[in-house]
Amino acid sequence: MDIEKVKVLIAGSGPAGYTAAIYCSRANLSPVLYEGLQPGGQLTITTDIENFPGYPDGVSGPVMMEQLKAQALRFGTSVRSGIVTNADLSQHPFKITVDTGKTIETDALIIATGATAKYLGLPDEVKYAGGGVSACATCDGFFYRGKDVAVVGGGDTAAEEALYLSGLCRKVYLIVRRNELRASKVMQQRVQTAASIEVLWEHQVKSLWGEGVVEGAVLWKKKGTPAEEEVRINIDGLFLAIGHKPNSELVAGVVDTDDVGYIKTVPGSSRTNVPGVFACGDVQDPVYRQAVTSAGSGCMAAIDAERWLAEL
Ligand code: NDP
Repeated sequence: MDIEKVKVLIAGSGPAGYTAAIYCSRANLSPVLYEGLQPGGQLTITTDIENFPGYPDGVSGPVMMEQLKAQALRFGTSVRSGIVTNADLSQHPFKITVDTGKTIETDALIIATGATAKYLGLPDEVKYAGGGVSACATCDGFFYRGKDVAVVGGGDTAAEEALYLSGLCRKVYLIVRRNELRASKVMQQRVQTAASIEVLWEHQVKSLWGEGVVEGAVLWKKKGTPAEEEVRINIDGLFLAIGHKPNSELVAGVVDTDDVGYIKTVPGSSRTNVPGVFACGDVQDPVYRQAVTSAGSGCMAAIDAERWLAEL
């Protein structure tokens, strides 16, 4: 069986993957990009993107991803639908297998597989997706200016999202399942002193209601205890902030990750512990997780890969 040989293989098609592809193509590296499970990545499930520089009137997530794809294609990236299912990094060139069964040998691997926001698993989250349920306050908070919203979670992300929304919204409920926050002390203090944030301790979301869009939520208070009761709140938006899952299973156990699974990169670079393997975008970023930072790290990965290949 013929084995295809390439210089750079990119796994993932969000802003990081496509930016890496644009830079690699322009450096004559003829990259191959596999789109993965969710072509276009997380931005394809948001509505308008208004914080990406260069779009004064905003741009819809799916349109932006189509444009990034077109830009990568224009410079010669081979964009392929399919999922990278295995990466054998024990030998060089690396042996990559895709879901069609095809094997490709690549000199450099750029991992841009992103992260997936965790959801509670309620049917109403699906019902109101794009209609009041979001997992990114920085992306969608602006649409709730002057309105009442709720954030679910008690970690740093939830605290950060609640504080961000408190600058835009009339009222922000922070729905916390325990009677304490997991967030850092400084964030806890900020949340608890913000006038427009009300923390609902020991509450969990049971369901949502509304005609087409979210108008309110039914919560359980002290679920599973003798004091359990139902509470109703009127809200226009529900923001999930219960953590993200980095999509790093492909290289688990070989490429170093933190406890959560975020790929560790050498600070100030996209290099991983495996020479020739680079990571960019949300799969290596537990902190910023923005389209623009993701695109920036995709550029870094392409430049790092190009230099590494030149030295090779
Ligand atoms: P965390 O895992 O730290 O927190 C998740 C929160 O969601 C917890 O409070 C958890 O509750 C709650 N939760 C989980 N599942 C459910 C559920 N099914 N129902 C209700 N609540 C639930 O995730 P984060 O995204 O907040 O943070 C991830 C990492 O990134 C952390 O290390 C954090 O410090 C870091 N981070 C750093 C930032 C910064 O430095 N600026 C900003 C954002 C994140 P419980 O506490 O009961 O488990």
